[in-house]
Amino acid sequence: MRRAIYPGSFDPVTNGHLDIIERGSKLFDEIIIAVLVNTEKEALFTVDERRGMLEEALALIASGFCRLRVDSFQGLLMRYAVEQHADAVVRGIRAISDYEYELQMALMNRRQEPRIETVFMMAAEAYSYVSSRLVKEVYSLGGTIEGLVPATVEERMRVKLHKS
Ligand code: ADP
Repeated sequence: MRRAIYPGSFDPVTNGHLDIIERGSKLFDEIIIAVLVNTEKEALFTVDERRGMLEEALALIASGFCRLRVDSFQGLLMRYAVEQHADAVVRGIRAISDYEYELQMALMNRRQEPRIETVFMMAAEAYSYVSSRLVKEVYSLGGTIEGLVPATVEERMRVKLHKS
């Protein structure tokens, strides 16, 4: 039984994240998509909203025999990973700029917990420029995000940014 944690802010989940989860589901028996309860960063969606959007989106992807579970965590990722009896942490790499930060994090995490591997997956070409931050920025300025996030997320963004 191979269990992985896919941690992130998911504010909101994008098709780039979903592509990583779908491909990751071929490697693991279970993936816990873990929403980071971040205090320092200004988030658009609450943790509950982010979890809800993930649940909706995960129902649409083909994960085969892999179990997908949504959770949230606070504090040290490696502590959470041990609590969850995880074997690995999955991260997506889009560009060289991701690599530098991710390498640093992976090495620090390995130092904390050498038994837990970080598995890097390359972003799909089609989504390699997509980030939650950019999606929020473009949408709030009136641009289109069609095809970059699930339709359910687009709808929640519309309600959040134009109604309230
Ligand atoms: P963070 O808050 O650490 O930037 P995110 O919630 O944006 O994390 O993303 C979580 C993980 O998903 C990170 O490993 C990030 O590199 C990866 N990721 C984000 N967007 C994409 C994408 N479009 N394609 C592939 N991986 C992605």
